[in-house]
Amino acid sequence: MKLRWCHHCNLPILDEGKCGTCGGPTVKVNLTPPGDIRPARRVDIQRVHRLADEQFGPGAGRALVPDEESVVVLNKAPADDRMDEVIMDGAVVATMRYDPLSGWHLLPRIGGANRMAKVATSGVVQISEDAVPFIEGGASILAPGVEAASLDIGSGDQVMVIDHEGKAIAVGVARMLGKQMVEEDHGICVKVRHHRRKGDAMPDPGLQGTWDDVIAANEAHMERMIDKGKEFVHRVAEEEGLPVAVSFSGGKDSLALLLVVLEAGLNPPVVFVDTGIELPETVEHVHDVARRHDLELIIEETEHDFVEMSAVFGPPSRDYRWCCKTQKLGPVARALNSRFPGGMVTFIGQRRYESGPRSRSGAVWRNPWVPGQVGASPIQEWTAMHVWLYLRMRNEESNPWYDLGLERIGCYTCPASDLADLKLVEEHYPGYARWRTFLEEWAEASGHDERWVELGMWRFHNVPKSLQEMAPGAAEATEGLAPAFQLTFEMDGRAEEVDGAFVARGSFDRELDLERVAELLTILGETRSDGEAGQVVVGEGEVIAQRDGTLVARGETGKATADLLERARQLVVRAELCVGCGVCVPRCPTGALSTVEKRVRVDQDTCIHCGSCFGPCAVVDFPPVAVMVDRG
Ligand code: SF4
Ligand code: SF4
Repeated sequence: MKLRWCHHCNLPILDEGKCGTCGGPTVKVNLTPPGDIRPARRVDIQRVHRLADEQFGPGAGRALVPDEESVVVLNKAPADDRMDEVIMDGAVVATMRYDPLSGWHLLPRIGGANRMAKVATSGVVQISEDAVPFIEGGASILAPGVEAASLDIGSGDQVMVIDHEGKAIAVGVARMLGKQMVEEDHGICVKVRHHRRKGDAMPDPGLQGTWDDVIAANEAHMERMIDKGKEFVHRVAEEEGLPVAVSFSGGKDSLALLLVVLEAGLNPPVVFVDTGIELPETVEHVHDVARRHDLELIIEETEHDFVEMSAVFGPPSRDYRWCCKTQKLGPVARALNSRFPGGMVTFIGQRRYESGPRSRSGAVWRNPWVPGQVGASPIQEWTAMHVWLYLRMRNEESNPWYDLGLERIGCYTCPASDLADLKLVEEHYPGYARWRTFLEEWAEASGHDERWVELGMWRFHNVPKSLQEMAPGAAEATEGLAPAFQLTFEMDGRAEEVDGAFVARGSFDRELDLERVAELLTILGETRSDGEAGQVVVGEGEVIAQRDGTLVARGETGKATADLLERARQLVVRAELCVGCGVCVPRCPTGALSTVEKRVRVDQDTCIHCGSCFGPCAVVDFPPVAVMVDRG
């Protein structure tokens, strides 16, 4: 995102043009990509004040940001956990970073340090004039060059380094105690993060604008973005020629999306999936919005209790997100299929600045998990700043959790959440305690120590190195992290030619429920159960599944036989492990599939063995549950 600044009006400007208020030139603000900027809320500025006062002494916070209504922009930067660049008066003045071990910290930049240095009573290191040229050349602060240092500086603290005039010359991390910095005659005192450079000088806080001034200065740009969004809605609805729905999650993006669709003149039903792990205020907010705009609200609730499902699959993680399928996509598929059996366009509040995968996705896509669903986002090119300005322009109330400081609204146990957000939820929502208890019990059973829960390591199947280094050994499980149930299939090599036909075989590591297996194998063809022989036969013996777990496929070529064995394997896995997520149900053209008591059922009379129901499946697609061993 290219953020610019009008220094005359002291306001952020969102496009390349001139300031919409004074018509004057604007200057580019250097941001860390991708640049999903957003306005700092009152709660964010309160955090800046608190951190600055704690680290640099009372009054430092207000020296940096004058008041809670100041126009401050935050830019979410890539980091191990949360990191926001704090932008005001046209420059990044500091960074706020969340450390899983020690919480939030303020890391000032030179411009921000200059403002705080005037009042700072803590975290300050003063160096001799002789040392200045070395520091400006990028060197660290060495002991002989320190003339004075705050006595409360601890090793690892964020500090600002000033010259004789009290001007910030560097900012960085203390490598020794403040007292030692003055007394020692050798060693590194401060590891410098930023040092003074030409052009770093920032004016004193100038004209203080308001967010209404920001809207006025960006109004033409915002109206263009909104118009583009409306045109997009019309174009997609027309081109696809399908009924339209809006997916509403209770977050800011889906609220902005909903307004664009309504302003485009459409009045589609709004679909909200209650995953069972929604914050109560989110559910209330969804109802409020529907009431306010007089919308038809379709609420689909998952049949699955998330904590109970976690006991089956194990805690979800960023690289193992079974929960999206069981808690969300299943209900979505059910709701949309029953309402729009011929397919539909669902407008979704997705933005490319949000995350890597979303930045690569186009503005229109087909959902592999929900057949017939065309997803489309008219706000794909918006930043969070566009979203918030738009909601303010339309006086639209957002989810109250944003006012508490939550950055991302969704399922409150989501493994994609930053630890900073999870801690905030834990602090304010008593219902989180049940999830915490589950994690603690899981940790104990699998041999993790409590830091695995405390530092949010459960969110990763492969815990990042940086997090492992914070708590050595905590990511290792003595008992392994095996889900409560597993089904392993071992293949006996490649398909072999026997008497003019190809045969492939393998075996599951446990006895099979032949009744269930027969029901699911119907998908391949007519089945016969032979109780005496303890087996199920498909067709003329193309597939045989035996009670002891053996699975055999026969075919005309090696490849066709291997493919058939794989399809049969998937069906046995579905027969044995299905959790009834419902994702496969809408794929059946004859309505032969349903879920009953959290298990998929196949109606033998209406199944035409077409195979359309193969595809994404919660239990087939999560290898830790259905393990495949190929001995070939
Ligand atoms: S899609 Fe339906 S009809 Fe086709 S094989 Fe599957 S269950 Fe049978
Ligand atoms: S077989 Fe069961 S787990 Fe797999 S997609 Fe269908 S309902 Fe979901």
